[in-house]
Amino acid sequence: MLSAIEAEPHGFSPLSARTRPEILFSLFAPVTSIKGVGPRIGALIERVAGPHIADLVWHLPTSLLDRRYAPVLRDAEPGRVATLTVRVEAHRQPPVANRRIPYKIHCSDESGDIDLVFFHARADYLEKTLPTGEQRVVSGVVELFDGQLQMTHPDIVAPLSERAAVMQVHPTYPLTEGLTQNVLRRDIAEAVGRAPELPEWLDPALAAQRGWPRWHDAITQVHEPADIADLDPNHKTRQRLAYDELLASQLAIGLVRAKTRKRPGQPTVGNGTLRAKAVAALPFDLTTSQQRAIDDIIADMASDTRMLRLLQGDVGSGKTVVALMAMLNAIEEGRQAALMAPTEILARQHFATIAPLAEAIGVSAVLLTGRDKGKARQQILDLLVSGETSIIVGTHALFQQDIAFRDLALAVVDEQHRFGVHQRLLLADKGAAADVLLMTATPIPRTLMLAFYGDLDESQLTEKPAGRLPIDTRTITLARLDEVVGAVGRKLAEGAKVFWVCPLVEESETIDLAAATARHAALAEIFGARVGLVHGRLGAREKDAVMNQFAGPADGDPAIDLLVATTVIEVGVDVPDATVMVIEHAERFGLAQLHQLRGRIGRSTKPSTCLLLYADALGETARSRLAILRETDDGFRIAEEDLRLRGAGDLLGTRQSGLPEFRLASLEHHGELLAVARDDAKLIIERDPALETDRGEALRILLYLFERDAAVRLARAG
Ligand code: ADP
Ligand code: MG
Repeated sequence: MLSAIEAEPHGFSPLSARTRPEILFSLFAPVTSIKGVGPRIGALIERVAGPHIADLVWHLPTSLLDRRYAPVLRDAEPGRVATLTVRVEAHRQPPVANRRIPYKIHCSDESGDIDLVFFHARADYLEKTLPTGEQRVVSGVVELFDGQLQMTHPDIVAPLSERAAVMQVHPTYPLTEGLTQNVLRRDIAEAVGRAPELPEWLDPALAAQRGWPRWHDAITQVHEPADIADLDPNHKTRQRLAYDELLASQLAIGLVRAKTRKRPGQPTVGNGTLRAKAVAALPFDLTTSQQRAIDDIIADMASDTRMLRLLQGDVGSGKTVVALMAMLNAIEEGRQAALMAPTEILARQHFATIAPLAEAIGVSAVLLTGRDKGKARQQILDLLVSGETSIIVGTHALFQQDIAFRDLALAVVDEQHRFGVHQRLLLADKGAAADVLLMTATPIPRTLMLAFYGDLDESQLTEKPAGRLPIDTRTITLARLDEVVGAVGRKLAEGAKVFWVCPLVEESETIDLAAATARHAALAEIFGARVGLVHGRLGAREKDAVMNQFAGPADGDPAIDLLVATTVIEVGVDVPDATVMVIEHAERFGLAQLHQLRGRIGRSTKPSTCLLLYADALGETARSRLAILRETDDGFRIAEEDLRLRGAGDLLGTRQSGLPEFRLASLEHHGELLAVARDDAKLIIERDPALETDRGEALRILLYLFERDAAVRLARAG
């Protein structure tokens, strides 16, 4: 098991529903159990909050609507939200022929009059809610139209008896199309009303010191904000709820780690022969930090706890070689190693690096991707089971059920955060006691590391291989595209290889593709057949063919030297003699992503240039992003800035990878609480690993509440 997320159950396990404590049943009832919430509204609530009552309870208000302003009509100020008490005088239906003329209801009080205005109105409904001759309370924005006071589509129409309830500060919630504030607010109130009192799982000293309310008080108060200060993420109420979530997550991670750290198998201690041969065969010397990382890993593998180490190294820092040395250590003992990459291009690149070296030193390595089918695939599987092959490199194809190893000692996962939860669970199953090395080029800020892995061992490649020159990064307006094309032409004439990256329009390859195809056509018109195109929709074979033509013979003429690409080239692609990169609409990319892209160049001893083309009228954030890139090549600084500018979920790519995003805690605001939660969890696991004390019992409920059911089972197994 690899991380926090393994503490979660595989999908929806019926077991979790059976073992869930009864006290939580009402919170896990479907939202459709609320009266008035049928399948249609239920689906909308599920989209915006989630399927359960608890999800409504945790759907927190993001702003306030103050309805306490309640003037008589003569004093009502246009533009303000007002709560008015009026008598309904007359309904004025529009002529049926013209749908654009609104339905108006004339109303008054002793000081003046107002029209309530409804477009596409249903007369029968309005006659029922606003009957002529009766008094009603209406609340909404007051407008002045042609000298007449009016209110278009009041937010609230209520009988006089509800006046006091309307004249409040109303919380306002994030919505989705088709759902209204009123409906959502009512359903949230209903959900909160159903929430039980839960036993306190917080350390009493901590709760007292922080002045945090009890859980039930917290969920009630959080939906009754009286002013803006109550919406602050560090308001006591919100802090408490955030802390609950962080504690559940840290406790789950801790329980899983405590279990998986105990190594059921034997330590791996290679004799160094293969590693020595590999070092001799490398065309370069290892950098000091590569050597240090290798030493860390070898020591981990030799210890009797299971390795879970993250190798962080900026793009181009040479992680593959480090991984190879770790794999050879396993193979020296007659065991096996696997390396997994998130994309086919990457898997092939790793294989291309590893295979010749492996062959030179007499180690058998194979590649397995989704492309291998039938007999060919079966042959590879046979080699693995028999142990004839020592190294396997592949994509998520390696996760499949029927893949078995003779003796898997080490699993290396490249760009690990790009894999989904489920895939990583499957990998963990392959080698019960396998050491795990995670590799990432996206430097993960300390806060995130902690949130997702708890205390994970870490090695960093801090230096670039010798002789690398800094990349000359420039920002240029798209209006000067012609000049850029001219400059690219000159570079090509000098023999340079050029990446041209097309804008990310949406997280959709189809739309990106249109832009890339158009740019390819335009550039091919100028430069001819030397312009290639690679994108995510190409079949693996076609992709390889294009990449190979671009990578070309070491010093001969490549068939393609200007490669138009979508972000498929973002991770890992290694064409050392590419020295120019143009990124179109750089303002549309994330900071870390731009850094990754730029890392494709500057990989040789030749100077490299990166041109960031931006659209005019840049926003503030985009402007600072590009400035940071111009200023620095330090991946860690860039990652921290990125976290600041974007927020955590985005940074780890959790949207795609399925890592859990916190819903009550935010890593930007609650980083300090995270560290407290980690220490709290550590202490709990030391003192009460089976969660048997009173507090332990309460903590189990906390784990179930945040659906960390698997962790509860681990605690039980004790
Ligand atoms: P990344 O960390 O981005 O995965 P790679 O492992 O792909 O980096 O290495 C980038 C390039 O640097 C490769 O061409 C690799 O052969 C080369 N390389 C790795 N280590 C060294 C070194 N110590 N000296 C020179 N080149 C190196
Ligand atoms: Mg790499």
